[in-house]
Amino acid sequence: MNDFLFTQILTELEDAVGRENCSVKEIDKATHSADFFWLSRMWVDRGRRMPEADFIVSPADAQETSKVLKIANYYKIPVTTWGGGAGSQGGAIPVAGGIILDTKRMNKIYEVNTEGMYIECGTGAIYKHIEWAANEKGFATMHYPSSLTCSTVGGFLAHRGIGVVSTKYGKIDDMVLQMEVVLPNGDIIYTSATPKHAAGPDLNQIFIGSEGTLGVITKAQIRIFEQPEVRRFRGFLFKDMTSAFNASREVLQKFKPSVMRLYDEAETASLIKKIVGVSKPGAFMNIAYEGVKELVDVEEKILLDTFSKYGAEDLGSEYGEKWWNEKITFFYPGHMMDIPQMFGTMDTIAPYDKIEKIYWAMKEAIETKYPYAKFIAHFSHWYEWGAMMYDRFIIDGEYVPEDPVEAMRLHNEIWTLGIRTALANGGVVNDHHGVGIKLGRMMKEQYGPAMQVFEGIKRSLDPNGIMNPYKLGL
Ligand SMILES: Cc1cc2nc3c(=O)[nH]c(=O)nc-3n(C[C@H](O)[C@H](O)[C@H](O)COP(=O)(O)OP(=O)(O)OC[C@H]3O[C@@H](n4cnc5c(N)ncnc54)[C@H](O)[C@@H]3O)c2cc1C
Repeated sequence: MNDFLFTQILTELEDAVGRENCSVKEIDKATHSADFFWLSRMWVDRGRRMPEADFIVSPADAQETSKVLKIANYYKIPVTTWGGGAGSQGGAIPVAGGIILDTKRMNKIYEVNTEGMYIECGTGAIYKHIEWAANEKGFATMHYPSSLTCSTVGGFLAHRGIGVVSTKYGKIDDMVLQMEVVLPNGDIIYTSATPKHAAGPDLNQIFIGSEGTLGVITKAQIRIFEQPEVRRFRGFLFKDMTSAFNASREVLQKFKPSVMRLYDEAETASLIKKIVGVSKPGAFMNIAYEGVKELVDVEEKILLDTFSKYGAEDLGSEYGEKWWNEKITFFYPGHMMDIPQMFGTMDTIAPYDKIEKIYWAMKEAIETKYPYAKFIAHFSHWYEWGAMMYDRFIIDGEYVPEDPVEAMRLHNEIWTLGIRTALANGGVVNDHHGVGIKLGRMMKEQYGPAMQVFEGIKRSLDPNGIMNPYKLGL
């Protein structure tokens, strides 16, 4: 872009959001160029620069967002929405330059409505802040992802995020009532007042998971819940994962625990031993169950009866409570993998008849082809019909090429192998981290001709292709 046009666009953006909310400073461009995607962090670590936006703009609301998108559409400049920048799929990286639309000024909490059971807030709010607002009135959001303190409401909606008590309370798509969205042409729309209606397809579900490719979500009504009267924990040790899957499926036909986390033997022997203190071999499972005391008593009996039938060793409440208190510690330096290691979370989801098969197939595929790679997993979100696998590969620094091009090649090869193995065995590209640029290429492999539905929606809403190009395979 020549200097003259650049300055012309800059003045228009400054007019839209205020001069102080529009930056072209090198530092702002650099800090909005890498998210939690391993490749972006490796690239910077090796002294290379990630693609940067030309302008960083921070609108205050839907009206200012609309003005920015109208300018972008006129000049046909890419727009990448940036929330907390904590996504792991490169979704917020401005790979095609243009505008970064940082949502963090849209962080107002408009209302905590304890009769309608929702919070209305700007989507730039950090999730922990809306949790505090709910807590002040004696309620809770029940959305507790490990990135609660660094990711935004909009980021979780855009990537269809999930928290640790999801088995009882649901994923983010179960937690939203209405959304305000600014379309790529600048129009401001509202989805219907409630989900679960029969007034045509659910508009919420078109934008949830769309990763900023169809517009900017600017406001949302997020459900709140009464605090449970009791929340109890129970740790178990299973001899093998097959019995854990069978026991869990049976429990889920009867009631929904809030936390369900099953760690494979490798993760039990490493992270669980280190952080929670379980030192016996086996597959550790932590269960929390909560609500009205009388009901929880019944749930506890069902849980203990069912798990003992499958040979689980009851470890009591101590380890479960420890796990709950340390649930974010898992991601602290020293516990979390980090550069110079290469790592990735290939989370996938499948019905019970496939999920364990996928685990073994991915483990074998990756550890056979890359003997220096460790493959570990836990299963953290459960449904009546299946479960989500949080599987990771980890390669120690000595095996990671210093040359960034070679490092990218190895990284992408492993991901392609892992995801193709999941797909071949009936899994889905991803459960809750999203697709971003990391897995865009796998979307067509997953969907085949069905991909044209997404492409058609994209073309009709964003004919100039300005919204988050190269993400989600669009
Ligand atoms: C330590 C750690 C732990 C994590 N744990 C979890 C976890 O437990 N559960 C979980 O679900 N995720 C987890 N994540 C992943 C991450 O928190 C989620 O992907 C989250 O959704 C990212 O939100 P963000 O605000 O940081 O979004 P960003 O990274 O800024 O953006 C993510 C994507 O959403 C788009 N986007 C952001 N805001 C909007 C908006 N308002 N409108 C439209 N598009 C938008 C962006 O363009 C991008 O494509 C974890 C990440 C880290 C680093």
